[in-house]
Amino acid sequence: MMYINNMKLTLQIKLLPSNEQAKSLLTTLKEANVACNQISDVIWQKKVFNQFKVHHLVYHNLKKATRLSAQILIRCISKVIDTYKLDKKVQRRFRPLGAITYDTRILSYNIGKQITSIWSVDGRLKIPFVCHNPKYFPYIKGEADLVYKKGKFYLFQTVEVPEDDVKDIEEFIGVDFGIINLATTSDGNKFSGKAVDNVRQKITKLKRALQKRGSKSAKRHLKKLSGKERRFKKNINHIISKQIVQLTKDTSKGIALENLKGFKVTVRKAQREQFGKWAFNELRNFIAYKAKLNGIPVVFVDPRNTSRTCSRCGHISKSNRKTQSKFVCVQCGFSLNADLNAAINIASRASVNKPIAVHPPVVMTPSLGTASHLL
Ligand SMILES: [Zn+2]
Repeated sequence: MMYINNMKLTLQIKLLPSNEQAKSLLTTLKEANVACNQISDVIWQKKVFNQFKVHHLVYHNLKKATRLSAQILIRCISKVIDTYKLDKKVQRRFRPLGAITYDTRILSYNIGKQITSIWSVDGRLKIPFVCHNPKYFPYIKGEADLVYKKGKFYLFQTVEVPEDDVKDIEEFIGVDFGIINLATTSDGNKFSGKAVDNVRQKITKLKRALQKRGSKSAKRHLKKLSGKERRFKKNINHIISKQIVQLTKDTSKGIALENLKGFKVTVRKAQREQFGKWAFNELRNFIAYKAKLNGIPVVFVDPRNTSRTCSRCGHISKSNRKTQSKFVCVQCGFSLNADLNAAINIASRASVNKPIAVHPPVVMTPSLGTASHLL
């Protein structure tokens, strides 16, 4: 069994600065990014990529030449060094208003009054803020990025949420992923992939037309399109995961998902191309983390043959799967929607495996393996 005690999430906090405060924040971002570019110049010219050496080369000059605090400068140095970690062959440039990182020495919160105290080149600023998830405030920990986006300032604050004690869960709701239904739960809820498919078809058509043109502006449009598609799927994943967690919340059941290793196997090639492997992984991760936040245990089970196994008699055969949507057992004749049959198998594997988490070992079916664990 593997337990993770804390979950790291990012809390989006919107700052509500006065005009003057906004100016100070902008100046701070600008000065920090100018410094980042200067650090990058030095790294590039001297071909020095080691934190300690770079610090030695740039820190004192920058401290003298800028109004940036020691803490911000140290953050800037690490930021620039990090960008060279992947590739040392291209010199890095930083956007004039790119995000900068704060830690507790230069940023604090008054939760009750909803005010942050944030360092700027013009001194500490007390800025009101809003946040839609105040329940996470007690868990604020570590760094935050100050981000300027479409004329607004945000803090992307790291929070570490402790995992609730695992409840004594007897039953699990299994979730199966597919294309016709992006998700099917073992208690019969279906989340259609139709909207996704319509948008995908539209986008594919557009993409083809643009690819044919091949012009510069066509390429720009293609890039925009793939961003749009990504955001659309992400939104769908948020909606579905939220609903599944909501539906489970009141049942005092846990959620069972297929573990990642076999996930690649079960989401077949054609399906991966339609919704995208990353999108299924994202959906799966969204369900897992939203469940955790609501104190719902999540169990990952061995995914082998979940779609070929009869959920009534346990018979495993390729020919059980008559069509994409229909399951008919060749042994006992049991027939059911194929996604639902798979979801029930996932749920029952969790129930079989689960007692190891809470009680001494009970029943273990050898073919199920011991791969299941609590996240
Ligand atoms: Zn059967």
